Amino acid sequence: MKTIDKIYINGEFVTPNGTEYFDLISPTTNEKLGKVRLGNTEDTQNAIEAAKNAFKTFSKTTNLERIEYLKNIKSSVEKRKDDFINIMTEEYGGTFQFASVSYDYMLKSFDSAINLLNSYSFIKTMGESEVQMTPIGVVGIIIPWNSSNGFICSKLSTAIAAGCTTVIKPSEMSAQQTQLILECLHEANLPKGVFNIVNGLGEIVGAEISRNPNIAKISFTGSTNVGKIIAKEAVNTMKRVTLELGGKSPNIILDDADFSKAIPLAIGAAFMNSGQACIAGTRLLIPENKLNEVKALIKETIPNFIVGDPKNPNTAVGPMVSEKQFNRVQDYIQTGINEGAEILSGGLGKPEGLENGNFVKPTVFINVNNQMRIAREEIFGPVLSVITYKTEEEAIEIANDTTYGLQAYVSSSDSKRAHNIASQINAGRVQINGIGHDPMAPFGGFKQSGIGREFGTIGLEAYLEPRALIQPK
Ligand code: NAD
Repeated sequence: MKTIDKIYINGEFVTPNGTEYFDLISPTTNEKLGKVRLGNTEDTQNAIEAAKNAFKTFSKTTNLERIEYLKNIKSSVEKRKDDFINIMTEEYGGTFQFASVSYDYMLKSFDSAINLLNSYSFIKTMGESEVQMTPIGVVGIIIPWNSSNGFICSKLSTAIAAGCTTVIKPSEMSAQQTQLILECLHEANLPKGVFNIVNGLGEIVGAEISRNPNIAKISFTGSTNVGKIIAKEAVNTMKRVTLELGGKSPNIILDDADFSKAIPLAIGAAFMNSGQACIAGTRLLIPENKLNEVKALIKETIPNFIVGDPKNPNTAVGPMVSEKQFNRVQDYIQTGINEGAEILSGGLGKPEGLENGNFVKPTVFINVNNQMRIAREEIFGPVLSVITYKTEEEAIEIANDTTYGLQAYVSSSDSKRAHNIASQINAGRVQINGIGHDPMAPFGGFKQSGIGREFGTIGLEAYLEPRALIQPK
């Protein structure tokens, strides 16, 4: 049983003023793994004060100094590869497969930030004026549980590249993962106060970050509902916000696609991170006349997506993070049944032999229409809705008929055709004939999937404020 009873403020592990504890429960066995002591409003204010003081000097550091700090963090993280993967599988139930990819992305975020510092010009000429891109101030980073350290690394590395200091609030469910990254960050020897991490609840620590006038910007990843609460509070002090929110991503398979490749890829896109991914391709759009072929391929493919112990390298779908999340997914499967959709695979209840953990049966619904709740709402579990279309135009219409717009997928054997369809989809990223990540290309959502973008130049500029110096001649 582990007890995490320290938070990190001004370069030191400190005991929080908050005295409440939160139990850390294994998603795989539902046994108690440990507990975390939660920070309170005062702890959050102390962290913000430390970041504010550090900003005075950190904002003036040179690119070379920032590159050095980023390299130091990267090398500390590199030393603990197995620990990062193990703790993610143990605490969160992320599969070994997903945790390994997530770890690689963590490392790449430092490379991308260094790359930006080597290529971006912080001083530009626009019109006849000099425009200085200046660090925005103290950034509040609020993140969910589904790739906790991945989010810390990508957001913190961008903040450092921009010359900003930070207060980070991870999910209280990720305390052991947070402890590990903290040990690496501490070892990297950054100036005191550049990063501060407060474990705590959203309504307490997150709310103070959203309210406090000394926070200049919030970078939030999480649900659309909480994103709205944060944005409403942030406007009182005109904080800048970057919001990475939910999704209901369409996956259009065109009639000329190689279905034997596209369907396994589509299942992978739907069930990635055990379905607990904002970018999961949860609406599979297929030509009506291919339904039988698709049904057969899905039936053939599903057994390859092994459900079980996340530590097993062959497992593709692990447990849901919590019992609450398990129940939410069950409720949605029941909703799909009530709405008249037909279960092709999976369904209610736990898979045999996995009754102790929060495991769900990867579920595929057919006969779904796009107005059903299972096609409109984010489920955040391995549940895929198959929707048929008659024409290309209808496919695009269904794809765009959603309040979300984070990611989309298109498969076709004709890359020009796929490119043409992709260009008509209202989503921040469209994946063509595969699933990839370009850390220098923007990531973020249209519509209620968010505000702003992360990664690359556009992501960096969200941490900068332009100052134009105008000298009339
Ligand atoms: P959540 O919105 O419930 O919580 C996210 C974070 O916000 C947590 O740290 C939480 O403590 C905090 N929070 C909660 N209430 C708050 C409040 N009133 N004020 C300030 N902070 C508060 O999300 P979750 O359940 O942890 O994660 C799942 C959600 O995250 C899904 O909707 C998913 O789509 C989304 N997500 C989005 C992306 C993306 O990049 N677009 C990536 C991953 C997850």
